[in-house]
Amino acid sequence: MAQTLQQLKESLCDCKNCRLCEGRTNVVFGEGNPNARVMFIGEGPGKNEDEQGRPFVGRGGQLLDKMLDAVGLSREKNIFIANMVKCRPPENRDPQPDEMEACLPYLREQVKIIRPRFIVCLGRISAQRLISPDFKVTKQHGELYEKNGVLMMGTFHPAAILRNPNQKEPGFEDFLKLRETIKKECPEVYDL
Ligand code: SF4
Repeated sequence: MAQTLQQLKESLCDCKNCRLCEGRTNVVFGEGNPNARVMFIGEGPGKNEDEQGRPFVGRGGQLLDKMLDAVGLSREKNIFIANMVKCRPPENRDPQPDEMEACLPYLREQVKIIRPRFIVCLGRISAQRLISPDFKVTKQHGELYEKNGVLMMGTFHPAAILRNPNQKEPGFEDFLKLRETIKKECPEVYDL
């Protein structure tokens, strides 16, 4: 069993546990503070992420970084960002259920090592797998759920906000609510 994030990362760099290994350039493990109390979880790497081996580095990632910065969060400082699947689905399609199940042990291990107090699901795919199978982002975004001692929130995926700019305002309100909840529940996040 992996003991540290680095060991876990090394253990999956040759992973062939699902068909997504066939088209990948890099496994996108995730990045951020290994002691983060807040994790953001998206669905899977896109083209830029696959090429660079880093999560959320395309236009959606730049928007995410800006929204995070506005509420005092950043991957360089106090959060960790990962995805449901670590390899790029072809043509940016949604990850399929069996691919997510194959990759889930890695995410579970990441959560076990990091032990976040908050998990923010970016988009429907991760919210439906991690919060509730019938989660509707347009209706339930910004709501808080407690599961096994972790406060969970689903919100819009930044790529969806780029496609539908009218989601930007409600998405940002979710981030503001997250900041207030973090300050109340876990103020040390802002001391990291
Ligand atoms: S998506 Fe996950 S399970 Fe599938 S090959 Fe990549 S690392 Fe392995």
